[in-house]
Amino acid sequence: VTRGGRGGAVVMHLNVNDRRLDEEQLKINANALRHLSEGVVITDNELRVVTVNKAFVTLTGYSSEESLGRNFGELIVGDPNDSVLEDIRATVSQQGAWKGELRTRRADGEFFPGLFSFSAVRDQSGAIEHYTAVFADLSTFREFERRIDYLSRYDSLTGLPNRTALAAHLQTAIDQARVTGGVFALLVTELDGFKTVNETIGNAAGDLLLKAIAERLQQLSNADDVLARLGSDEFALLAIASATRGNGEPSAEFERLAERIRIAVERPIRIAGQDVFVTASLGVSRYPHDGEDFESLLRAANAAVYRAKQLGRNTIVSYSPEMNISSLERFTLQNGLPHALARQEFLLEYQPTVSFANGRVSGAEALLRWRHPQLGLVMPTRFIGLAEDTGLIVPIGEWVLRTACQQVKRWIASGWQDATVAVNLSARQFGRADLATRIRDALTAADIEPWRLRLEVTESMVMNDPDAAASVIEHLSRMGVQVALDDFGTGYSSLNYLKRFHLNCIKVDRSFVHGTPDDIQDESIVRAIVALGKTLGLKIVAEGVETLAQAEFLRTAGCDDGQGFYYSRATSPGEVRALAASAFPLTAGSLQAQLDFALQSA
Ligand code: C2E
Ligand code: CA
Ligand code: CA
Repeated sequence: VTRGGRGGAVVMHLNVNDRRLDEEQLKINANALRHLSEGVVITDNELRVVTVNKAFVTLTGYSSEESLGRNFGELIVGDPNDSVLEDIRATVSQQGAWKGELRTRRADGEFFPGLFSFSAVRDQSGAIEHYTAVFADLSTFREFERRIDYLSRYDSLTGLPNRTALAAHLQTAIDQARVTGGVFALLVTELDGFKTVNETIGNAAGDLLLKAIAERLQQLSNADDVLARLGSDEFALLAIASATRGNGEPSAEFERLAERIRIAVERPIRIAGQDVFVTASLGVSRYPHDGEDFESLLRAANAAVYRAKQLGRNTIVSYSPEMNISSLERFTLQNGLPHALARQEFLLEYQPTVSFANGRVSGAEALLRWRHPQLGLVMPTRFIGLAEDTGLIVPIGEWVLRTACQQVKRWIASGWQDATVAVNLSARQFGRADLATRIRDALTAADIEPWRLRLEVTESMVMNDPDAAASVIEHLSRMGVQVALDDFGTGYSSLNYLKRFHLNCIKVDRSFVHGTPDDIQDESIVRAIVALGKTLGLKIVAEGVETLAQAEFLRTAGCDDGQGFYYSRATSPGEVRALAASAFPLTAGSLQAQLDFALQSA
């Protein structure tokens, strides 16, 4: 400043500390946005694009220049005339956010399923200034879903349906037969001495042999029939009687078919320039004569195969009730079951689950046993079905629930502070309107927090009536109890449903764990289940862990917990308590993880 020939200066101080921080924050935000793997679009209040991030460009193929100023809907929503955007705006303005799936268009005209979440940015007066949309490409999830679906229904070696798929086909056959009065049979074929043959000619040749057998059986079956592979050398043919359409005796027809199979297997099979000889033992069970559902038909056919083997192999046996050695036993169980609760013959054993992260016991699953006065300790698989059929499962299940909750209380009192328990629910219990009340009562009576209880439900239970199941599960999860999907992979889960259920956890069925780490198919199923579970934010527990090698595989595959004989069989509460007091010997990888953790905390 000059004044009157003299110079001076005015100095103004401004504290820019805050602004620096703001700038820093902006930089961080921009950086986060840039590196986010989800696409981000910010629009003005007319849905005109204001900014997009790098992932948007990658996911949609539109450059940011192309996108700016364009209408969001015209740019990427599948059908621009669709009113979906108006719905989204309405929801966002009323509820603050919208989440859902949109058919999303890419620059090249292709579509992908996008999982979007919209929210609004408002000015000081509360009017909407901007919309932000964050989205992910669901195609990979869909791919996982398809893979699990395929892997869990088909046998990879022969391409034949597996046991799960056969059960579904058989159910369809039953439904049809109920209407038409039709008859069908289950023909189970087991190769005689396959193990020995396999050892002699080698695994690779053994696989070729199985494929060749599968082809021969396939050729003998009719278009309506379903051929499945149940186990390594076990095939099952669901054969629909043509005699029901004409006249003739279906049983004779099935026996002729079985005989053709027996002869077809007997023929030498040429593998690597060599003739290989095998024979088959066959068991036949008929619907509705020998059983009215998949399990009982299969049990009957297996009993018949067993008899065929006893008779010297290379033979066919049709099921008859005398083969059912356990019918006396069933009678005894049936009579005793109604009184067992009052006579205090039930008890619970507990099987610990172990965290792969640190080798410590994370909780225990309550497993029911029946101490029968004549039969000794009876396992649940032998009487749960009976209890379901008679409805007795409801009071028994309630007893299990209460007893398990009280056990947790005792564990806490003994110093196991984070004790939790898992309880299996039966379909009957799950369908009852008072389920939530019963659970709340059990928790209150034992005086434990809801998060300590995990309820295990199976896929078939929830898939019977998915809408009802979703609301029951939501209710339970709002109460704060954990819900796990048991025996995962054996039923008909679909990602769409899984997303809708408020689950906390999935338990990978032990049939998949069994083959790991050597069986490629089991391995890929487990990996796919883990990937799927993780994308849904679920805890993953692997069942039936029997060996160190399995534990190591499951841990590296990303499972959280393991449960199985490798750690402990189901046992007394005291024993579980003792196990919880120390950590399990860790596998090489988890030892590393624990070290890392210790170093980090230090
Ligand atoms: P689940 O829920 O799949 O329970 C696990 C079963 O696998 C148990 O058999 C357990 O002993 C067995 N298991 C555990 N580790 C291994 C392993 O490493 N290898 C093998 N091969 N098996 C293993 P369990 O106790 O015989 O129970 C059988 C089923 O009975 C249970 O299957 C569950 O569905 C049902 N169940 C048991 N307790 C109850 C109950 O209180 N209520 C209801 N509704 N069902 C129950
Ligand atoms: Ca279970
Ligand atoms: Ca299970």
